[in-house]
Formats: sequence, C-alpha cells, structure tokens
Amino acid sequence: MTGPARAHQLGVIACHACGLVSKHPPAAAQGGCRPACPRCGSALHTRRPDSLARAWALLIASLIFYLPANLLPVMYTSIIGNGSENTILSGVVEFWKSGSYGIALVIFVASVAVPCTKFLALGTLLVTTQRRCRQGMRQRARLYRLVELIGYWSMLDVLVVAFVAALVKFGALADIEPRAGILFFGMVVILTMLSAMNFDPRLIWDADES
Ligand SMILES: [Zn+2]
Repeated sequence: MTGPARAHQLGVIACHACGLVSKHPPAAAQGGCRPACPRCGSALHTRRPDSLARAWALLIASLIFYLPANLLPVMYTSIIGNGSENTILSGVVEFWKSGSYGIALVIFVASVAVPCTKFLALGTLLVTTQRRCRQGMRQRARLYRLVELIGYWSMLDVLVVAFVAALVKFGALADIEPRAGILFFGMVVILTMLSAMNFDPRLIWDADES
C-alpha cells in the first residue's frame, strides 16, 4: 500500500453533503438502518452504492438518446416562405453556408464535440476504474473534474436554439420552431450529467490497495 492512509483504515467516514468527517459507526451499532451524518442527517456511505453500475446504465442510456438527437430535426426554420427542418449537423452546415460562422461553431462544439468528448471521458473512467487500473490515477482524477466542469455548460446547445429562435422572431420575416430532436439532446445532457454524478471518483484510488 502506498500513499496516505485511507478513511476506513482510520475508522472515519466523510459526509457527501456537508463534508463533516465522523467516526465510522460499527456495523453492530447501526441496528440494520443506514448510518447518518451527525450534523446534517444525510446518509453516510464509504463509497456511493452501485456507483459503477449506475454510471454505466446512465451513460448507455445517454448514448442511445444521442442517436435520435442527431437523426431527428432539432429545429424548423422558414425564411421568406421556404420552410425546412434541420438536424444538428445540417443546421451547422446551413449556418456556415449563410455566413454565421460563430453560431455554426458554437452549435458544433456544444452538440458534437463536447458530448462525444464526454462519452469518451466517462467511458475511459468507467472501464479503467472497473479494471482497477493503476496507471495515471492522478490524470484520471483530473479527467473526472474536467467532465464535471463541462457539465455546467452542456445545455449551451438548447440555449442556442432558444436564442436563435428569439433573434429570428424579432426579424418577423422568418419563422423558427424547436423540433423533437432537441428534447432528446436535452435528455443526453441530463443523463451524462447524472452518470458523472453517480461515478464515485474515490473508486479511482481504490486500485492502489491490494
Ligand atoms: Zn453531513
């Protein structure tokens, strides 16, 4: 065993909600019910229960939802009578062709680059943690923090559609409406966020114990 002592070796447990470190209650004293934080009352556990299974399930669900998010139209635009429905990628192409490079780039980054990076990052974290991989634990902990950071900005794409819709509505000449694809995209964002939340980053360091 290398590195600093573990919480369970010291007989202490930390609260997820308020951060208080308290003495780990012995199994007999729990009387069948879950140990609770003495300060805030939330349930205490050394590791998130079923962390990997839940994170996997949510990640796979988000991958499934990513298909209709890309195949179904996300918005309907009608500029001077010409109506057309656009998927995410065809929308990017349309905006690029019409010279709105900024919007095209934002949509591409928010709806293709970021989600795909997230899928890869979460998949890597889950596979390596499950295999109790001991390589690059520090880097993987950093990767997890990056995934959490990205999470805050993932709804950008949904916001862009709302923003573009508002801009076009003011123009009065054109019409724009959201379509079903954007709902699936919203689901992808929510599911990947939940998957990242369910992944317990402390599991990365457990590979160090043998
Ligand atoms: Zn607490």
